[in-house]
Amino acid sequence: MSNVTATCLCGAVKITAEQVDPKFTVCHCHTCRTWGGGPLFAMRCGVNIVFEHEHKISQYASSSWASRGFCSECGTHLFYRLNQTGEYNVPVGLFAHLTELEFEMAIQYFSDARPSYYCFSNQTKEMTTEQIMAYFASQRDR
Ligand SMILES: [Zn+2]
Ligand SMILES: [Zn+2]
Repeated sequence: MSNVTATCLCGAVKITAEQVDPKFTVCHCHTCRTWGGGPLFAMRCGVNIVFEHEHKISQYASSSWASRGFCSECGTHLFYRLNQTGEYNVPVGLFAHLTELEFEMAIQYFSDARPSYYCFSNQTKEMTTEQIMAYFASQRDR
């Protein structure tokens, strides 16, 4: 999907992404669940993303490898950005006007950190903390 737009709850921040991947990711890690109160559903939006009223965006460095952005007016979570690649991951719910049929839950990250009080029936790939750390280590060594 190309040139997809999304807005925060109050409308102060508008996002235009040149390329979004409707095969979205789910993250069960403790940081995501603390940030949003539940698992994070995010679409990979690459680096070609434009923000309107960027000064309304607050950012928080949630780890040494990523930062999280939110609207300073309404608190809507806007993105999770990887420092190394500059890639943005934008919460699925922000793309409210896209047809539901286009979405597909593709992978669940930190599946071992998923608490026992919820589970999804979707058939997806999963990666554990150990597998994710091994993947990042292999990327770093290149
Ligand atoms: Zn807002
Ligand atoms: Zn996470």
